[in-house]
Parts: sequence; structure tokens; C-alpha cells
Amino acid sequence: MAKIHNVKVGFFALPPATRLVDARHGDHDVIELITVALTDETGATGIGYTFTGGHNGAAIHKGIEADIVPLLAGEDADQIAAIWDKIWWACHYGGRGGPMVLALSAVDIALWDLKAKRAGLPLWRLLGGYSTSVRCYAGGIDLHLEGDALLATVDAAIATGQTAYKMKVGRDNLAEDVARLTAVRRHVGDDFTLMIDANMKYRASEAITAARAFQPALPLWFEEPVVPEDIDGLARVAQEGGLAVATGENFRSLWEFAETIKRTPISYPQPDVTNCGGVSAFMKIAALADAFHLPIASHGAHDITVHLMAACPNASYLEAHGFGLDRYISHPLIIKDGFAQAPEIPGIGFTFDEEGLSAFCVSAQEHDLRS
Ligand SMILES: [Mg+2]
Repeated sequence: MAKIHNVKVGFFALPPATRLVDARHGDHDVIELITVALTDETGATGIGYTFTGGHNGAAIHKGIEADIVPLLAGEDADQIAAIWDKIWWACHYGGRGGPMVLALSAVDIALWDLKAKRAGLPLWRLLGGYSTSVRCYAGGIDLHLEGDALLATVDAAIATGQTAYKMKVGRDNLAEDVARLTAVRRHVGDDFTLMIDANMKYRASEAITAARAFQPALPLWFEEPVVPEDIDGLARVAQEGGLAVATGENFRSLWEFAETIKRTPISYPQPDVTNCGGVSAFMKIAALADAFHLPIASHGAHDITVHLMAACPNASYLEAHGFGLDRYISHPLIIKDGFAQAPEIPGIGFTFDEEGLSAFCVSAQEHDLRS
């Protein structure tokens, strides 16, 4: 029993470190970061976060402040499943599938960090523990790049220890994407792992044409060829395009993954712990994939997700995400020879650089829940 005594909620609007462009969202001018810190009656603190590409941050922040913080009063921080259910159903009517799931995710992550700290274990060991490292790739957000600039970005990722890279596709002219992908494949050689990501750019028939055009460059997977609502279209792309398909960063629940796995030959379910319902939901999605003999991939938040992937027997590749939040955390991801190292620090193993973040603070509130 460890009652939650204090909640701190932060909302930050961060400038990207470099220009970030993808096919659906265009330029990312602002990265929104919403942080949660939960302190229990023993004085231990767990932290979590969620993020957006520039919109809905205010709704997520307000959702935590107005709806979730009151629901945490009097709760035992160790009963994460009960708290998750309480928040899910309290916020279900207006929040299912939307910003409230991101809000819930941040709180759930903080609860798991707190639980692991109280146990004196790194989160991946608390979750079962499978491997001390996981295969990793650099997630490029590089649709605006081509020629030497694109190759230099790939080289910069390789210089950090990466042996796999994901590039964006989805320009209006398919031939430009084919040329960009072909140039990168020629540059890195056949032994290097390449993925491609269309960020929901295409309709299914366009995606099938694109997949067939990309096929000679041997990408490991074709990510988000279509919108998450088009499950039948996704099935067609996976069946007719000739490439393995990854998707899931825009799914918002375990049940969307279940429906997609049932109805399509998807190859890489790809949840994001900060928007699928947190650690609790991510681990269920990973187990669901395992039950269908599928590997699990990941999107975003690599500093947390490295723990989850290191606890999964069916882990494929961890995405080292390109939003650059590493600048504001104490222990950024360590990558050696293409493998991300699972931290041995209790909990999720990092804290936020509060001084560095303070310059970009939109709101910071603290709530005392002791009655
Ligand atoms: Mg993606």
C-alpha cells in the first residue's frame, strides 16, 4: 500500500532541434511535452510523459489536471490495473481514442516508474526481463531531404552506433521517393537494415503501387501506408504490395491492435507507449502480437520503450525517435553496434532536466492529494 500524495503536471512547448518533415503532418514547428510526476506516501517519485507533434497538448494537459488528478486521490499506487480501469471508464465517453488516452498513458508510465523504483528494479526487469539489449533503428523525419543532405543524415545516425535507419516516403511524386530510397540503399549497402514510413499518405491502391516501386530497395517494412481507420485497405496493401507492413503509432488502444491483427496480415504491430494507454497497454499489445507469432516494433519515447522491448521475447526493432527529447533527460539512450542498452537504474532510469525545460514551460502545477 502506497497512497499517492502529490502530483506534478508540466506542459512544455519545445522547438525541434532540426527541421522535421513527414508526409501527413508537414513541418513540425513545436514538440509538445506533457510530464507527470507522482509522489507516494513513502516519498518515492515516479515520472511519465506523453508528447505530440504540435497540437492537442493543451487538451491532454487539461485532461490530466481536471479529470485524472482528482481520480488519483486516495488510490494505492501499486494497484496500477485498478487505477488504469478507473481512469479509462471515467473518461471513456469523451476521451476514448483521443487526448485522454495520451493523458492516461503519461500517468500509467509514472505509476510503473514508481512501482519499479519501490521494487529497486529497472522497469524491464520488473516486467519480466528478457534481454539486456534490443535491436534499434534511427527514425529519420527527413521527407524534405534528398541527395547529399539525406545521405549525411543517415551517416550521422550511423555515427551514433545505429546499423538500421528508417526514412520517410510520401512525396507527391513517387519517382522522387524511389530515387531517394535507391540512393540511400546504394549508400549503406545491402547488409544495412532500411525501413520506410509514409505517415498515412496514401490511399490503398496508391500504397500498393508505391510498395511495388519500393520493393527493389528491400526495405524491411513499409510503415503506415494508409490511415488507421482503413483496415481493409491495410489488408490489401499487405497482401498485394509485396512488402511487410508496420503500423500502430496512431492506434489508441489494445483493441485496435486486436482488430487489425485479426483482419490483416500485418507484420509489425507498432504501439507507442505514450499514446496506446501506457506501459500497461503496451505490454498487452506485445503479448497479443506474440500470441499471433508476430514480432513487436515500437514508436517514439525510446527512453521508456527500451525497457518494454527488453522485457518482450518477441521484440524486433526499437525506434530511436527523431523528436530529440534526449536533450532534456538525464540518461539518454545508449546504443552500441545497433543495439540499445537496457538501463540498470531502478525505474525508467532517467529524470527530466527541469532547468533546461523551464525555458519552454507553458504550465507547471502541483497538487497535494493528502486529505
Ligand atoms: Mg511512423
